[in-house]
This record gives sequence, structure tokens and C-alpha cells, in this order.
Amino acid sequence: MKILTVIGARPQFIKAATVSREVLKRQNDGVDIEEVIVHTGQHFDANMSDIFFEQMRIPKPDYNLEVHSLGHGAMTGQMLEKIEKVLLDEQPDWVLVYGDTNSTLAGALAAKKLHIRVAHVEAGLRSFNMAMPEEVNRIMTDRISDLLFCPTATAVSNLQAEGFGGDARGFGSIVRSGDVMQDAAMFYAALSEKPGIEFDFDSPFVLTTIHRAENTDDPERLQSIFEALQTIAEKTPLILPLHPRTRAKLTALGIRSLHDRLIIIDPVGYLEMVYLLTHCALVMTDSGGLQKEAFFFEKPCITLRDETEWTELVEHGFNLLTGADRNTIIDASEKMLRHKQLFDERKPELYGNGNASGIIVDALLKNQCKPNSDSTE
Ligand code: UDP
Repeated sequence: MKILTVIGARPQFIKAATVSREVLKRQNDGVDIEEVIVHTGQHFDANMSDIFFEQMRIPKPDYNLEVHSLGHGAMTGQMLEKIEKVLLDEQPDWVLVYGDTNSTLAGALAAKKLHIRVAHVEAGLRSFNMAMPEEVNRIMTDRISDLLFCPTATAVSNLQAEGFGGDARGFGSIVRSGDVMQDAAMFYAALSEKPGIEFDFDSPFVLTTIHRAENTDDPERLQSIFEALQTIAEKTPLILPLHPRTRAKLTALGIRSLHDRLIIIDPVGYLEMVYLLTHCALVMTDSGGLQKEAFFFEKPCITLRDETEWTELVEHGFNLLTGADRNTIIDASEKMLRHKQLFDERKPELYGNGNASGIIVDALLKNQCKPNSDSTE
């Protein structure tokens, strides 16, 4: 069986790493399985791309399509055209896509038009905010996927509410796989690496990331978030590995760190990120993946957005949604930094038990000869 994986953005490298490792394990066990990796090029800086392949030992991509730095239409369009050519040459049994980026949508659409089966990892997530490019990408990808790997119970119910998993024809099959990011956190926890900055990691600090378009593309929101960060830094240092998009926006708006305890650094690799996650006192982020990683590493989280796809974390009190309002963020940080018992009780198993990649590879193998089989599990 040949799987063709389409990835292009940082979170996709992290998610795909665990499935690639599982494929190699099966190969070593003598299973007839092969993976061809296509990197669309969407993220291309060494610290947004290469470092993940090296640190997480992801096989080198078989193709790099070098599509980047374009608007949504041009980027998705160029990817679609280039992926189609690769698919015609490779003729895979499955195209495997991850998450919600333009690379996800382009991979799924190119495959579907060629009648190649599509499997979507991280299916069923919804923010119910159609202004988010990610929401459009994930809804479109889910609709044309044959196998929908859901990380959570909420993701399964979202799909069911849209008609998946029932009698309606033309919908793919739901598989509740658990979350591949849980697999990654468990596997790489022991391999964490201290970031190369001067800092006493044994003293409390806040780990922050900001990169969502709704924050970076709205000067008022970005300004308000940064004012909150400067105020929080007066009491507790913050470490902010900065996404290139956010750096460009901050420079354009003339916003800079006014406090030496608001420590802005370049993006770090996953192993450094795991170190920061295990040592920090609080996570403040607008990232999807980091909200869950805070939970995996038992840290409280504040989400700098108006809504989240990972609603179970908010429902259980592990995550506070603040939006971009300065005072709300400051109040939430004080509350969460004081809240020491958050993880004292037994943690619920919200994202599976670390075997999502195994379940995904099993389902791909099981369904390899049965197009549109009804394998709801
Ligand atoms: N991440 C990383 N280095 C960084 C910032 C984030 O390795 O400097 C990791 C983070 O731990 C998580 C993933 O990148 O696993 C999240 O990616 P991102 O926030 O870019 O995307 P999202 O999850 O919001 O789609």
C-alpha cells in the first residue's frame, strides 16, 4: 500500500512525524506499506521546517513543491497544480492530509479530482468562525475525505451534526483515532532540549506564542495583546518564540518589547518547545496545537482568541478564552498563575492514549481495497 502524505506547515510536520514513524515500524515488521512525502513548501525557513525533519527524524520529503509567500488563492492554486502532477506519477492508494492549512485543502482536492482516496487527520474540528481561513480549509477537506480521523469526541459530534456517519450518501467514514499530537508529546518528552538562551528556567515564566491571522492582521488586537504582555512581564517573565508573520507585523506597526522580561526569540524546534512546556508556569497562545500541549504537560493555558476548536479544555477549566482584550488577559494570567491545583485530580483522557498513529495506519491498511467503505468506529 502506498500512502502519499502532503504537508507544508510547522504543525503538520509535528503531526506527521508520529504517523511516519508508525509506517516505518510496520515496514520493519514486513507489512507492505510505503510512504511518499510531499512538502508543499508553505513554511520554508530553516527554523519553521528543516529543524522538525531533523529533530523528529521525519524522512526527507520525496518532493518539495516550493510554493510559498503567496496569497491564499495563488498559493492553493499552485499547490493544486503541482500536487496533481505528483499524484499522476505516484498513483498512491491514499493521500493523507493533516489539519487545516492551504496545503491540506490542496492535497485533498487534487486527490479527490483524480479519484484517489483522501484521509484527513484532525477531522471534525470547528471554530464556527467562517472568517478563519483554517475553518474554510477544514470544512472543505472533511467534505471530500474518505476517512476522517477525529482527535476528540467533540470532533465526532461536529461531523455527525453535519450529516457524517449516518445514512447520507457521499460522506466519508468517521474514525475516532485520538490525537497524533498526544503521541508526539509522549514520545518526544524524554528527548527535550534546553533552548540556547540565557535564562533561569527553574524560575516561573510564561510561554507565549502569537501567530493567528485574526490577531496579527488586526493592529488593534495585536497592540492590545502586546500591552497585556508588557504588563504581565513586570511580575513574571515571558518567553515568546516569535512566528515570522508576527515579527513582520510588529516591525511594520513599530511594536517592540519594552521590557527585558518580555523575551522575544526566534521560533524554536519541537524539542526546545517541549523543554519550555515542561518548565513554564503558564501557556498563553493563539495556537491550536499549543493549547493541547499545555494540557499534555499539565500547564494552565490562556487562549488569546474569541473561540477555540478545543472546547473540552475550556469546559474542564484547563483553558481560559480571553480574546485580545488587554485587561481580560491580565486578569486571566493572574488567576491562572495562582491556580496551582488545576491538574491535581486525575486528568481526563481527552485525546486518546498516545496510539492515534497506530489506529490511523491500521485503518488505512484495513480500508485499502474498499473505496468509501463504511468503517465508522
Ligand atoms: N512550535 C514549535 N516551535 C515554536 C512554536 C511552536 O515547535 O517556536 C510547535 C508547538 O509546540 C506545536 C506546533 O508548533 O506543536 C504548533 O504550531 P502552530 O502554533 O504554528 O500552529 P497551530 O497549532 O496553531 O495550527
